[in-house]
Amino acid sequence: MNIHEYQAKSLLKKYGVAVPRGGVAYTAEEAGKVAQELGGGLWVVKSQIHAGGRGAGRFKEDPNGKGGVRVVKSVDDVVANARAMLGKVLVTKQTGPAGREVKRVYIEEGLDIRREIYLGMLVDRGTSRVTVMASSEGGMEIEEVAAAHPEKILRVAIDPATGLQPFHARKIAFFLGLEGNQIAAATQFLSGMYKAFVELDASIVEINPLIVTGDGRVVALDAKMNFDDNALFRHKDVAEMRDVSEEDPMEVEASKHDLNYVKLDGNIGCMVNGAGLAMATMDIIKLYGGEPANFLDVGGGATKERVTAAFKLILADPKVEGILVNIFGGIMRCDVIAEGIVAAAREVSLTVPLVVRLEGTNVNLGKKILADSGLPIKSADDLADAAQKVVGAVKEAA
Ligand code: ADP
Ligand code: MG
Repeated sequence: MNIHEYQAKSLLKKYGVAVPRGGVAYTAEEAGKVAQELGGGLWVVKSQIHAGGRGAGRFKEDPNGKGGVRVVKSVDDVVANARAMLGKVLVTKQTGPAGREVKRVYIEEGLDIRREIYLGMLVDRGTSRVTVMASSEGGMEIEEVAAAHPEKILRVAIDPATGLQPFHARKIAFFLGLEGNQIAAATQFLSGMYKAFVELDASIVEINPLIVTGDGRVVALDAKMNFDDNALFRHKDVAEMRDVSEEDPMEVEASKHDLNYVKLDGNIGCMVNGAGLAMATMDIIKLYGGEPANFLDVGGGATKERVTAAFKLILADPKVEGILVNIFGGIMRCDVIAEGIVAAAREVSLTVPLVVRLEGTNVNLGKKILADSGLPIKSADDLADAAQKVVGAVKEAA
């Protein structure tokens, strides 16, 4: 799960990570109030969407105008710029061409930036450890730095038995060229960030940029946090930060039915039980020249209702021109799947070719239910046959 920048900052602050003062606003008037309360003479109006690159992004409604992060010098300008952002669609490198509507803005005190640094923490599957990534190239996307200047990135894997120690922090601080009081500040910053990462079951914490201010403070100017969905049950406060309007509506619908669904760009919808089989099904669709429209694992103990929900989900994607159902009935019985398919196909008027490959418990009963349904369902005997049939049927229909 993703959260907004202002939410990530509020969590990090609780762990002693230095962040600018700020407040969220849903309307231009609220933005003005927040700015007034913050005081000072410099504010930043920041679009809150679940994507980075906002500063360099542009609004669809005003492609030649300013970006999604603006530094302003008066409360009136805070109000005007909040108004210019709210309800508008911001397109950044990370949103894709469709962009995201800005529904909240974050008003922050403007800081005096002397240096911009990159600091990230993630779970590195290679070392099986939380790994700190640091680079003096703050503000740039780390992927770009990694491609052009890999030597400018320091990676430090943290042993879970010791946690992040002061010597780790010093190593990072020296690599970044921090000096004097900044080293102690960076140590406190890193310890807090690591503690937040571990205690909150984060999968990514990215501070880009981390800044050194004119008066030598080390502050998180931007913050991104991702969380492990499987651990959210033990972090109610984090789970409450979920903003479903930022998520793919189809993935939100899928999660309501406990379906593991990931939307993709192809035209062949897949419904499979088991993540491994789902991956293999996607591979074989590609092997025969097709493109999967989604990854969908209905799970081992799926009910008829869940299969129906899965089927509706696939059909709700306008790009889908054919569907491949590939079920191995081990825990799940083929007749239950077949009933679900028939029920869903009846409920949603099926206009695309449907190929079903069933194997396992009660397979003959399952096939009979499909055949007796009177629906135009093509049966397949194995995975290759199924993939060829659905790719062929889609080409024929085109
Ligand atoms: P994004 O990464 O989505 O573009 P950031 O939060 O990193 O958004 O902001 C982009 C840039 O805007 C920063 O690199 C920094 O130069 C400037 N900026 C952001 N917040 C502040 C702030 N509080 N004070 C001064 N400048 C800021
Ligand atoms: Mg940033």
